[in-house]
Amino acid sequence: MAALARFTKSSSLSLSFSSIAKALYFYSSSSAAIAESNPYSQINNFTRKDPKDWNVQWVFLGCPGVGKGTYAGRLSKFLGVPHIATGDLVREELASSGPMSNQLAEIVNQGKLVSDEIIFNLLSKRLEAGEAKGESGFILDGFPRTVKQAEILEGVTDIDLVVNLKLREDVLLEKCLGRRICSQCGGNFNVASINVKGKNGNPDVSMAPLLPPSHCMSKLITRADDTEEVVKARLRVYNEKSQPVEDFYRSQGKLLEFDLPGGITESWPKLLEALNLDDCEEKQSAAA
Ligand code: AMP
Repeated sequence: MAALARFTKSSSLSLSFSSIAKALYFYSSSSAAIAESNPYSQINNFTRKDPKDWNVQWVFLGCPGVGKGTYAGRLSKFLGVPHIATGDLVREELASSGPMSNQLAEIVNQGKLVSDEIIFNLLSKRLEAGEAKGESGFILDGFPRTVKQAEILEGVTDIDLVVNLKLREDVLLEKCLGRRICSQCGGNFNVASINVKGKNGNPDVSMAPLLPPSHCMSKLITRADDTEEVVKARLRVYNEKSQPVEDFYRSQGKLLEFDLPGGITESWPKLLEALNLDDCEEKQSAAA
């Protein structure tokens, strides 16, 4: 707990958004050359800032459908740092009908990962736009997705903490199939009502649906990659390419494993407790 308290109270050696963005952009625009040389040799020369309270640089890991977006989004509001989901950046690019959108649609709709070059490009643009608005710190969701991405991120900035959200695979599938988005406000909901028996001595899992308000009801859409076939493909890709990222951060002592005990009502207070933030919530509610 002491180690986590340290993570949550200060961000060590944080770099400016533009430094990270430049480094990532540098990578995206010269990936071929970098692959043959040391990727960090030219991008580690940045001015380091003093640590700032709450200026967290966190990563959320976990299988598709586990709830990274939900919990990272809530924590981002709680801590006042941006929630940056590379999946959202990819979907925005797809919706923009820009030059990359056809190529991206084909990859995403098969549950495959898009190239590092594209991801670094989108992420660096997002970080730069955030810095222009005065953002600092971040909670990354859906990035890094491969050990190579994690190594490059580690070469450009210090991640304070990596939260690994975990849930049974059969529940993940049900959650993905129940996921809905409001096409107007962009809100994320889930129509699945999950009640599965515990296995191997583990408790039963129950999750109430997260229903939209009535004005969103007629505008709900399902993500094109939330079909059973594509979700199964995404889970296979996660196990093959992203699970090693957990080991990468575990070996650095940065990984916080969090088994979701149920839906938001049960899991949110437990997550705050695991992050040593439960005290802050009490203080915030008392002040409100
Ligand atoms: P998500 O919303 O995180 O499930 O991401 C949706 C899709 O965007 C993924 O299935 C990938 O095709 C792509 N994507 C998102 N983040 C990454 C990443 N870090 N690396 C490669 N592809 C990604």
